Amino acid sequence: MPDGIRVHRWIAVALVALSLAACGRAPSPPDAATAAAPAAAAPPIAATAAPIRETTRTVVPGDTLERIFRDEGLAPSELAALRADPDLRRRIDRIVPGDELRLRIDDGRLLAFERRLSATETLRAERAPDGSLRSELRVDPLEHSLRTTGAVIEGSLFQSADLAGISDTTAFKIAGIFRWDIDFVLDIRPGDRFDLTYETLSQDGVPVGDGELLAVQFINQGQTYRAVRWTPPGGTPDYFTPDGRSLRKAFLRAPLEFSRVSSRFNLYRRHPILNRMRAHRGVDYAAPIGTPVRAAGGGRVAFVGIKGGYGNVIEIVHPGGVRTVYGHLSRFSRGLRSGTVVEQGRVIGHVGMTGLATGPHLHYEYLQNGVHKDPQKVPLPKAEPVPARHMAAFRAHADPLLAGLDASVAAGRTAPAQTTASTGAL
Ligand SMILES: [Zn+2]
Repeated sequence: MPDGIRVHRWIAVALVALSLAACGRAPSPPDAATAAAPAAAAPPIAATAAPIRETTRTVVPGDTLERIFRDEGLAPSELAALRADPDLRRRIDRIVPGDELRLRIDDGRLLAFERRLSATETLRAERAPDGSLRSELRVDPLEHSLRTTGAVIEGSLFQSADLAGISDTTAFKIAGIFRWDIDFVLDIRPGDRFDLTYETLSQDGVPVGDGELLAVQFINQGQTYRAVRWTPPGGTPDYFTPDGRSLRKAFLRAPLEFSRVSSRFNLYRRHPILNRMRAHRGVDYAAPIGTPVRAAGGGRVAFVGIKGGYGNVIEIVHPGGVRTVYGHLSRFSRGLRSGTVVEQGRVIGHVGMTGLATGPHLHYEYLQNGVHKDPQKVPLPKAEPVPARHMAAFRAHADPLLAGLDASVAAGRTAPAQTTASTGAL
């Protein structure tokens, strides 16, 4: 966890001088063309009468550095010069689609090459006055600060998060943390409230996104759920309740992403197509055709195919005598067949309207020992808690975060529709 706001500047970590035997040229004094080029801090650059060109190339599938250099009218010797240093070569040779390369070119001659290696590292090679290529790795660390804020839900989770200045990324994390407890498709109500403490990241004072979500509380229909991010010694980070229980459970509450709702679990509803009372023994999630459907829990696929009113249906058997059913699918995930072992959350198919369906939706059933249960209400088996020997360390970490959430909730109560925000270490 970061200790408040840290401010960093660009740090030049490495400076590598490369001699340019292959294309060494006598240095010439800077001229008007050089002065007009971007990168004001760059050292003077040898130039000819041809205009200096700066270009940004986004790597596409099938691209190679050779091809990019050739397209840009650069001689093969220019790439060879860049690659002469093994360290530099290691950092530039593996390009992947989406990478951005910036090149400054003077009549077939490479003046500068820049590649962002990560969120915090940029490699820049530049032609020095003596004709050599000098490269440096710039490290521009992210500045972490903490933000505690909260919001009352009026429309969707995302709308409310947006109004509170919370990014979709972080809103998705909230839904992900509580996905075993709260059905974010069917259970969210106006007046639900969430409060959270998370890292905000900036670089040179410019916000670049959100970091980790450290603690979050969600009040759903009067029920309070709380989670704290914690990394067990030697383990991976996970979320735990204030008393150290894992949030993870054997089944997700909703086996698909957010969407509109058509009908709840109801044993006595009238089926719109059969037009007679018929037990509706599952939950229908209205969703656009193609919405990914996920395995609610880990298990083995028992059936993939067409079955009466279910249309395209998948059945999964899980440990403990549980069986889940996913009906009306438009298609199955490639390679899924009877016997396939799936883990929780894996996409198994896509929403459709095959079989007896009035519109696109997922029909989901949860059976315990052959008996239909309301998947939204059935108690779910839980994962491993914080080990007793680490409980003191967990509490020491969690208590201040939870106190921060309490303060946010208290501040929010006086003005429920407003966002309470504060920045800084807790
Ligand atoms: Zn149904």
